[in-house]
Amino acid sequence: MQKQKSKVILLPCSSYREELVYEGLKKGLELLGGLETLVKKEEKILLKPNLLKKAEVEKAVITHPAVVGMFARILKEYGCKNVILADSCGHGTTRKVIAGTGMDRYMDEFQIPAVDFSEGIKKLYPEGSQAKEFMLSRELLEQDCVISLCKMKTHALERITGAVKNSYGFVYGFYKAKGHTLYPSVDSFARMLVDLNQCVRPRLYVMDGITAMEGNGPGSGDPVDMGVMLLSTDPVALDSVFCHLVHLKPQMVPTNYHGEKMGLGTWKKEEIEILTPDGRISMEEAVRKYGNPEFHVDRRVMKHGIWEKMAKALNIFQKKPYIEAEKCIRCGICAKSCPVPGKAVEFRDGREHPPVYDYKKCIRCFCCQEMCPEKAIKVK
Ligand code: SF4
Ligand code: SF4
Repeated sequence: MQKQKSKVILLPCSSYREELVYEGLKKGLELLGGLETLVKKEEKILLKPNLLKKAEVEKAVITHPAVVGMFARILKEYGCKNVILADSCGHGTTRKVIAGTGMDRYMDEFQIPAVDFSEGIKKLYPEGSQAKEFMLSRELLEQDCVISLCKMKTHALERITGAVKNSYGFVYGFYKAKGHTLYPSVDSFARMLVDLNQCVRPRLYVMDGITAMEGNGPGSGDPVDMGVMLLSTDPVALDSVFCHLVHLKPQMVPTNYHGEKMGLGTWKKEEIEILTPDGRISMEEAVRKYGNPEFHVDRRVMKHGIWEKMAKALNIFQKKPYIEAEKCIRCGICAKSCPVPGKAVEFRDGREHPPVYDYKKCIRCFCCQEMCPEKAIKVK
């Protein structure tokens, strides 16, 4: 019997004008079979946007408030009464990050409480291939249903951050940093993320790719108009379409590669069906119409096997973070974000000079680069 294809809804959307986003999302849900097939009105629902850190909305660091707001409006109009919004932010809390962005205004309007996660609860996951337990946020575990509202961005560690990676925000506060030391390699981290998605099982993934982030993502890249929103219940298929649109081979993204192997979803184009408001289109047509070959993302082939092991042992050919001294304001956020005991980036002689890296200790998690507020940390 032929395997059922994973549906990805591709919605062209040229701006964040409310009605445009609202109509697009409504159409997208209809193409997926209707909101009633995904959630029940009486369920407790968590909306989980990407709220990495406080930044101007135009910088494309967080899921755009209009996408979150219009999705909230649709849920409320449908009759959902128990909806909350939360994320385990990289820096700050849900309420602090959304304050003044416009997302707070939408949450007030639709009477959806924005919640700061209060504590971590151990959730055992014996079925996990890489991770057998997670420290998840209490408020997440109290919900019946989770909807992931992710952002189309680049990522120094996993090349992109999209649907699969957005779920890392279910892990409670400090344990996110700890996760990088427990799963220090690109592959082990990706496999843990796949386990996490299988453990939490978000019902739906919505990607804001109207304005995406390219280059030095996920916190310090550049906004670029892609003009699309993507919806799917298969996060790997959704991320695969994102990859195709930016001319990156989907299997080069570790969360896609392992996500397919571990049964979370598929990155293979022959197993993905793309639907638009104008009908079904092929991946090639989607790329031709909505793709961006100039999108700045890491397309280099990784060294595998013996070469990778040698490079690691000799600490060469590996990506590494570095600080552009002239941009550094000596805030120390990079050192605070570093999860390695004893810190792999730290001030050496007070705050006269920027922090200094100890590459022997550094596990290349790139948390420092994610969190730097001044775009002073680059990866070479
Ligand atoms: S986070 Fe950025 S600006 Fe702050 S000390 Fe580190 S490199 Fe400098
Ligand atoms: S220095 Fe940066 S990349 Fe290295 S371990 Fe610390 S946070 Fe991660």
